[in-house]
Amino acid sequence: MEKIRVGIVGYGNLGKGVELALQQSPDFELTGIFTRRAPETMQSVTGNVPFFHIDTAKDYVGKIDVMILCGGSATDIPEQGPHFAAMFNTVDSYDTHAKIPEYHASVDEKAKQNGNTSVISTGWDPGLFSLNRMIAEAILPVGKEYTFWGKGVSQGHSDAIRRIEGVKGGVQYTIPMESALERVRAGEDPELSTREKHMRECFVVAEDGADKDKIAETIKTMPNYFDEYETVVHFISEDELKTEHARMPHGGFVIRSGKSGRDSKQIIEFSLKLQSNPEFTASVLVAYARAAYRLNKEGQSGAKTVFDVAPAYLSPKSTAQLMKELL
Ligand code: NAP
Repeated sequence: MEKIRVGIVGYGNLGKGVELALQQSPDFELTGIFTRRAPETMQSVTGNVPFFHIDTAKDYVGKIDVMILCGGSATDIPEQGPHFAAMFNTVDSYDTHAKIPEYHASVDEKAKQNGNTSVISTGWDPGLFSLNRMIAEAILPVGKEYTFWGKGVSQGHSDAIRRIEGVKGGVQYTIPMESALERVRAGEDPELSTREKHMRECFVVAEDGADKDKIAETIKTMPNYFDEYETVVHFISEDELKTEHARMPHGGFVIRSGKSGRDSKQIIEFSLKLQSNPEFTASVLVAYARAAYRLNKEGQSGAKTVFDVAPAYLSPKSTAQLMKELL
């Protein structure tokens, strides 16, 4: 079988997850990992993947079919997306929702100019959640859409806690309110305020002698991050933070509550419960890398989102096999 040759750009949580996900997909071959750090100082989790400096990537044009971009959405991907789309087919998980249209335009231009195909903003949100919102809305045009996130770690909120004076470490979980979920599932179609949809739970390690009451108060009243939510703060030891909170779980629910023809209530629910957010996101990226490769083979160049990619392109199985086994 001819394998899809891929490279990983950026080796953080997501990059490591992609390396592991590729081990479960025998139709791929990992050529190497491209990083901004000194390649000779890097060691891959599976042990035997070569590292290259990111500036040498241009030497691999024609030798790599798809680059899987694993940089951060804040500053890496807006620059790396169009840069790599000019040289390779790409896939990324760019998740700054408000800026996706402008990011799409910048990648689309470079990809089209060079006959490449780029699947942007995939993963689970944006990604599988977006797809489910779209399908549910198309099927039930009269209705309401609800997205709940969690239980899961929010990197942004965890970072905000760690910046507070007297805080040594910490992690924040976003948790959907069970009462709100129940009302939505019961078909009540409630109007829910921010406070009614999610709560925030923080596990904090304080510096020796720090004022814990003051830290808790600073967290709970922090504008834009915590002040609009019910927030619970627990103080824990550094050991407990390491042993109990090192994983990056996440997940959530996309629910559409609608009505069809004769006022019949119809509810569609899609949910994810993820023990590792980066490992799962990486698995989605790998499936969409397969799609980018195939779309390109068919001559469909430019930037694509999950809305543009037909589901069969994600699977290594043939159309005949899919029909027989899964239809
Ligand atoms: P991360 O671990 O912070 O890695 C981001 C980049 O930082 C890496 O590509 C790496 O680039 C560099 N880096 C990582 N560890 C480093 C270290 N120890 N020292 C110096 N540099 C280091 O971020 P991540 O958890 O992989 O997440 C990447 C992005 O995925 C996030 O920004 C998020 O937007 C996105 N995401 C999307 C979804 C979705 O559903 N769409 C879900 C989860 C995450 P170099 O190797 O070049 O140094």
